[in-house]
Amino acid sequence: MSEPQSRDFIRQIIHEDLESGKHDSIVTRFPPEPNGFLHIGHVMSICLNFSVAAENNGRTYLRFDDTNPGKESEEYVAAIERDVHWLGFDWGDRLTHASDYFGQLYESAVQLVELGAAYVDSLSADEIREYRGTLTTPGKDSPHRNRSVAENLDLLARMRAGEFADGEMVLRAKIDMRSPNMNLRDPALYRIRHVTHQHTGDKWCIYPMYDFAHTLSDAFEGITHSLCTLEFEDHRPLYNWFLEQLKPPHQPRQIEFSRLNLAYAITSKRKLGALVEEGIVAGWDDPRMPTIAGMRRRGYPAAALRDFVTRAGVTKKDKLIEMGVLENCVRENLGEAAERRLAVLRPLKIVLTNYPEDKSEMMSAMNHPGRPELGNREIPFSRELWIEQDDFMEEAPRKFFRLQPGGEVRLRFGYIIRCDEVVKNDAGEVVELHCSYDPETRSGTGTSDRKVKGTIHWVSCAHAIDAKVRLYDRLFTEVNPNSAADFHTILNADSLQTVDAKLEPSLSSLAPGDAVQFERLGYFCIDSEEHSGDTLVFNRIVTLRDTWAKIEKQAIQQQH
Ligand code: ATP
Ligand code: MG
Repeated sequence: MSEPQSRDFIRQIIHEDLESGKHDSIVTRFPPEPNGFLHIGHVMSICLNFSVAAENNGRTYLRFDDTNPGKESEEYVAAIERDVHWLGFDWGDRLTHASDYFGQLYESAVQLVELGAAYVDSLSADEIREYRGTLTTPGKDSPHRNRSVAENLDLLARMRAGEFADGEMVLRAKIDMRSPNMNLRDPALYRIRHVTHQHTGDKWCIYPMYDFAHTLSDAFEGITHSLCTLEFEDHRPLYNWFLEQLKPPHQPRQIEFSRLNLAYAITSKRKLGALVEEGIVAGWDDPRMPTIAGMRRRGYPAAALRDFVTRAGVTKKDKLIEMGVLENCVRENLGEAAERRLAVLRPLKIVLTNYPEDKSEMMSAMNHPGRPELGNREIPFSRELWIEQDDFMEEAPRKFFRLQPGGEVRLRFGYIIRCDEVVKNDAGEVVELHCSYDPETRSGTGTSDRKVKGTIHWVSCAHAIDAKVRLYDRLFTEVNPNSAADFHTILNADSLQTVDAKLEPSLSSLAPGDAVQFERLGYFCIDSEEHSGDTLVFNRIVTLRDTWAKIEKQAIQQQH
């Protein structure tokens, strides 16, 4: 996992900082707010933070940014820990919370007041907004901006003691109300909120604001490189202002990189949470969700996700990456690992009229074409078989090499068969095919070397096991749902389809989460959460080929 990767601009900076002796070792952190499950965008941040440290014998903290009591929960904390571990990273004993530092943060706030660099404002929230000005007009000073240090210290202590109601007072940095950078127009440092915090209980009724808490937590932990996404670029002057004022012994450096966006996927915890809350998906770990939990349940290997973000790369350019790139990483990973099995997703019965009714035999089936060491398994063959509806066409075009009336096809690991008769119901639908098999053509041991163009998969009716197989598609019909005004209008109504499939019997012993290839169909695994009585429930992880590539590439190009 800590294989050196080609040097992106962040790795280059780190390399130089080590070469020049600026740092002896690298310390990074991944700082999620526990207000939802992590998504594919976070995978990028996790891999980057943990990998750059590991590549340089450094350390990485997992720090929960829990400064927003009420929106955060222990359920999310647990989910985040599980997800980071599953991705393959270990924070050791470096699991922290912004709330661990509430005491030190308060001391730093007092220090800023003593330096004359912060003041308590008693304007209302509306007034503060009004005084702040706009991007084109300067702000103006609050009438309370020049309170004495003594008065500010007194008010801050009373804020902390709970003497004021929510919103009545706020502690602000004293920087510059005319700065072209809005973040420097006396940003709030502490606000009053009489809420119980999931970690500190009722100990505090004032809570630090993100920029303040984040900068100082980085400093307290000795973070050397504080890696964050580009939307924080305008916050960097404030980040540096805190460090200049307070002069902590460790001076972290903030470096921004671009967010990773995935085509057809939402990458915002808030919006993903809305999908869950509104019941549009079955939960945060619904296999259609671009959450780590959803992708794990879907059957994506952790290594495929790591490959994917490596391929996406660390840059400063906005990127919207095709789903096909992610799916290719999954395919490549599973192609090597997953054993092959036979399964029929949309069954059509065939009867081999010249095969004895009470007979069955075992066919030798290869487990993996590229890994002979995995050997063969035996699958039962008998007179009645399921084949895929798609593999039969009554009026087939010239290049259709599967089954058609009067035509021949090879059954994988079995015999060559011919379709003699099509049986239909009153509505004219095909219900069954009557075929005959050629006993000389048994796969491997047959005496005939006759060849036919098509090979199809099958499962013996008498031995098949039933399963529900869930076939997933994109949740959205638009390539960039993040920018949609209302994502409800672009939901893909066909993102989940469930079929009643027939599987070869060996699949009954598959463990949940273990991926297999259903030959000719794709990669599948048993769902880890859902059970349907005794019937197994499978997820389609990914199809064998990328049918979306072209459509998607065009859609993304049109966007740019
Ligand atoms: P969300 O909007 O989904 O809540 P966030 O950025 O608010 O995302 P945090 O929990 O604050 O979520 O994120 C933790 C870390 O993950 C941050 O350092 C953030 O920059 C990074 N991150 C979040 N989204 C992405 C993304 N799409 N690509 C890369 N990094 C991301
Ligand atoms: Mg956030």
